[in-house]
Amino acid sequence: METLYEEVAALMVKFKKVVVLSGAGISAESGIPTFRSKGGLWEKYDPAIYASFEVFRTDPSKYWKIRGEFIKNYDKYQPNQAHSALVDLEGMGIVRYVITQNIDGLHKKAGSKNVVEIHGSLREIYCLQCSKEYLAPEVPDGMPPRCNCGGVLKPNTVLFGEQLPQEALATALHESATCKIMLLIGTSAVVYPAAALPSHAKQNGARIIEVNIEKAFPEADYFIEEKAGAALPRIVAEIKLICK
Ligand SMILES: [Zn+2]
Repeated sequence: METLYEEVAALMVKFKKVVVLSGAGISAESGIPTFRSKGGLWEKYDPAIYASFEVFRTDPSKYWKIRGEFIKNYDKYQPNQAHSALVDLEGMGIVRYVITQNIDGLHKKAGSKNVVEIHGSLREIYCLQCSKEYLAPEVPDGMPPRCNCGGVLKPNTVLFGEQLPQEALATALHESATCKIMLLIGTSAVVYPAAALPSHAKQNGARIIEVNIEKAFPEADYFIEEKAGAALPRIVAEIKLICK
């Protein structure tokens, strides 16, 4: 009898056009604290204040207070085996796109090429006045940090009350509608628009594979109850066996 891993691997080889939707779970395995979990950032800091665009415009130091340290230590956080496995799968022509809710930039850091960061990225920081770009961790000191023109710096992440990047969103919707398989990794799939993508994929005929420590998408066709850093390298190994 085929194991779940063999079955999932065979499916990916057969259909290809896999689109990944990744969430906080994959980053947690790199030691990045999740926001919504117990003990997470949002328990201490109300996101309606600390991550609100309106508040940012009047008092940007609030956002920098919760994010500044992460940005200063940006190089400390490294992609894990799950991120690397997705790079391999892209190289094999199996994964077509990675759509992520994560703002840590780890998919790009790992080497994935087609990445849509629907909530933006903390790596890119720009001046609200002259648009000059800075890259984490190279940010001027100060609270809030300011550009040498005097303008306030803002990480390129989507704050509450701020519009999502339309181009990224359009790509995410298009990829979800046209993929053959959607691979959900460590996402709780509760926050719009990410929450809508698996259903969108499923309605357009895609199979849904979920890798998670807790099932979050009831309509998934396959559920691998495992950490991403363990499950994904195993899927890659099974695919290599099929393709050798
Ligand atoms: Zn500037």
